[in-house]
Amino acid sequence: MTHTEPDARFPFPVTTVPTRCRRRPALFDLSFGDLGGDTKKTAQHRLEQARQACSSCPVVTECLRWALVNKPLTREGVFAGTTPGQRNALRRRLADRLGPEWIDVLAARDQARRERAETAHNTPLSVPQARVVRLDRELNGPMHLPPPLTAEEQRLNRNRLTAGLKAA
Ligand code: SF4
Repeated sequence: MTHTEPDARFPFPVTTVPTRCRRRPALFDLSFGDLGGDTKKTAQHRLEQARQACSSCPVVTECLRWALVNKPLTREGVFAGTTPGQRNALRRRLADRLGPEWIDVLAARDQARRERAETAHNTPLSVPQARVVRLDRELNGPMHLPPPLTAEEQRLNRNRLTAGLKAA
């Protein structure tokens, strides 16, 4: 991997919902070292707007992860509502917790998770497990899925996830 290519182990999250940074990239293109023509107040206002946009983005957690592991590509600008300085602080915390090779550690964990999911998907239920499932269906009827989360609930969940990642 060269230093200008994204780490292929962490694909940028895709969503069918057009993200605000795609629709309005200028808002996220903040240069914090050199504010150019922006006054500090204007830059702060744009940062707040970008943060607000990210807070309702369906891929905010994955976006933050992508930005953290791809430092050479995210030295400037707002990603998942964070500034470059905040991302550096998060990287330091990850390095403290997981060691200097924390990106490799995260990649290995992702790989192990994918393999476990694949194994679970391909492993048929044992006879006792299948009996329990059948019995449950007979006694309780078909499973009723809870109603989909509201936008507000999704936002709260995302905030919790992001806070968890920050605390990681
Ligand atoms: S969270 Fe990431 S993908 Fe979503 S709007 Fe913000 S910068 Fe764009």
